[in-house]
Amino acid sequence: MKHIDLRSDTVTHPPPEMKKAMFEAELGDDVFGDDPTVKELEALAAQMLGKEAGLFVPSGCMGNQLALFTHCTQGQEVIIPDDCHTVVYEAGGAAIISKVQLRTLQTDEGKMDLNLVKSKIRRDPNDPHFPSTGLIWVQTPSGPGYVLSLEYLQKLKEIAEADKIPVHMDGARIFNAAAYLGVEAKDIAQYADSVMFCLSKGLCCPVGSMIVGTKEFIEKARRNRKMLGGTMRQVGILAAAGIYALKNLAGRVGEDLKTAKLLAKELSNNMHGLVTVLREPQINMVFFKVNHKSFDHDDFVKYMLEKGIKIIAPSKGTDVWRFATHYYIGEKEAMTVIEHMREYLGKLVSGEQ
Ligand SMILES: *Cc1c(COP(=O)(O)O)cnc(C)c1O
Repeated sequence: MKHIDLRSDTVTHPPPEMKKAMFEAELGDDVFGDDPTVKELEALAAQMLGKEAGLFVPSGCMGNQLALFTHCTQGQEVIIPDDCHTVVYEAGGAAIISKVQLRTLQTDEGKMDLNLVKSKIRRDPNDPHFPSTGLIWVQTPSGPGYVLSLEYLQKLKEIAEADKIPVHMDGARIFNAAAYLGVEAKDIAQYADSVMFCLSKGLCCPVGSMIVGTKEFIEKARRNRKMLGGTMRQVGILAAAGIYALKNLAGRVGEDLKTAKLLAKELSNNMHGLVTVLREPQINMVFFKVNHKSFDHDDFVKYMLEKGIKIIAPSKGTDVWRFATHYYIGEKEAMTVIEHMREYLGKLVSGEQ
């Protein structure tokens, strides 16, 4: 990659070996169920997540929306964290596609309060006032980058099970969560009935996400995917990238956590005291604030771009910066970023900038 790109792990390109696997993939028409490479990926994903079956989908958003659509019926209610991807970044799709009501609960360090979850479950679907609870939603890593503990996930699952309500997990970066906890992805996935995870982020695939769950759930989701226009033909060319990623890259995202921790340390200690790192990274992301009265977001982004570094300013009205590490950001790249940033902030302190 030409730039050092810290905007997101979504910017990753397929490494050469992955491209080779794509080039050589055996293909078929997956609408006829004829693509052996897609079948292999779906089986491998299911096995790694400890589920019966898997389904390749074009994006994480479609995977999440399919899960909603497949678990729920119209007018049901979903108990869901208010800072999760589906609530914040999926264009309100739940209202259009599944026609469900999202009962959003605030989170603390990524977690909905378990007693609150329990109290929000609608237990009397025959009462004409109430929607029925169709699904409980959990996301790990959470919106603000917290990895939920296995104990928490287990308790949440027990609460759902007591009322026979399924749990869907948005595990877009489940392998990053597994690296932090020092467990396998399936140890996390065991506390959900269905899981979505992305191939296209830290795993470097150009396109694609997976959903996994029971055979019955996945067969229903396969039909629903067709309805949403997400069924593709010789898609083995993309599935081959996914297989390569699961076999070779899923186990390395712990490296990205290390690099994020290195960045966090340097930002805390080596920025003329101007940077506050908000917390020790749990995934491949560092969140921080810069405290100086003449620090200008756009000017800093422009300066870094001139040095070959792509970063993204906080969204309007906020001042939290995020640097994301990934396959193409090693220790060397991280230290290059730190040097340029220290130089920029040094000029601010001395009044030159
Ligand atoms: C990126 C992401 C998605 C959506 O994935 P796309 O492939 O961008 O549609 C869903 N959930 C979470 C937590 C994500 O980070």
